[in-house]
Amino acid sequence: NRRLVLAERPNGEPNENTLRMETADIPTPQNGEMLLRTQFLSLDPYMRGRMSAAKSYADPVEIGDVMVGGTVAEVIASNNPKFSKGEYVVSFSGWQDYAISDGTMVNSLGTTPQNPSWALGVLGMPGFTAWAGLTQIGMPKAGETVVVGGATGPVGATVGQIAKILGCRVVGIAGGAEKCAYAVDELGFDACVDYKTDTLNGDLAAATPDGIDIYFENVGGKVFDAVMPLLNTGARIPLCGLISQYNATSLPDGPDRMGMLMGQLLTRRITMRGFIIFDDFGHLYPEFAAQMIGWIKEGKIKYREEIIDGLENAPEAFIGLLNGEAFGKRVIRVGNV
Ligand code: NDP
Repeated sequence: NRRLVLAERPNGEPNENTLRMETADIPTPQNGEMLLRTQFLSLDPYMRGRMSAAKSYADPVEIGDVMVGGTVAEVIASNNPKFSKGEYVVSFSGWQDYAISDGTMVNSLGTTPQNPSWALGVLGMPGFTAWAGLTQIGMPKAGETVVVGGATGPVGATVGQIAKILGCRVVGIAGGAEKCAYAVDELGFDACVDYKTDTLNGDLAAATPDGIDIYFENVGGKVFDAVMPLLNTGARIPLCGLISQYNATSLPDGPDRMGMLMGQLLTRRITMRGFIIFDDFGHLYPEFAAQMIGWIKEGKIKYREEIIDGLENAPEAFIGLLNGEAFGKRVIRVGNV
């Protein structure tokens, strides 16, 4: 049983010393428990927060503990009446080959799931985040302009495609020409702006001639600076993530713009609301799942994955995820499915 434990808390970017591979005996399930064999491990930006001791909405991973993470796993042995050997489940097994679970927060995918890893992406937490943030906080109306950062990632790509289904004009913001072309040509966005140029502000203004009604915030930093002056009266901002800050060790350079931001929120009556997906919207999961399965079947939502083989490659793949190396949802294939 290989497992990756937190060896030290990163200062800035995680590096090769952040996590340590250990081996241990395969554990034995007790009464009411089951043994899970990880097949896929999800890599997600929130994991950077768990590596840090800073107070957040969830407790940090302790030094020496297995790194947390969403997984798709196979039930190898079960003393839990709700789950049987051979079943696939979505679990929170973390960065390891095997885990013991009592069934809490575990959902069955049946014995022959079609695309099991999708349960970690478009049909799971990131897809749900996109759906709930957009519909519950963004409250889009047909004809409105929606802007989303991290446009080709699992959350951003789904936000934009749902907004298109709902009749909005959608402008993505992504890093590089290739990702922008994908957002327009494959995902069907109306436009996509590359934020890694020095023409970001002008390019975004040109792509949003009617201003911005909804800004789905995934990234923060210079992208938010470009969005702010373009927000319309009554705009909504689902505040989902701020990935540009996750590795930051100090405040950004430049003048303090807090007063300007608050002035704009006031005079333009803008709503900005942060959310933590399952804490705030968990009760809506069945509604999301039903709608998303329908859209995927109808070919209305596309999904791009990057599957990387080997648990041993997870730390490097995670560092790359925070740096914009991923193109689509990054998943580690841990098992043999
Ligand atoms: P992504 O795969 O989109 O995140 C990685 C991407 O972030 C990179 O590929 C890169 O895209 C972009 N990025 C990295 N650094 C920067 C930067 N400095 N400026 C702008 N973009 C940057 O992740 P997810 O789709 O899984 O998540 C998107 C956001 O949603 C994250 O902030 C995440 O923390 C948040 N989230 C929040 C949840 C909640 O409950 N509130 C739940 C799930 C996710 P590019 O190459 O285009 O720069």
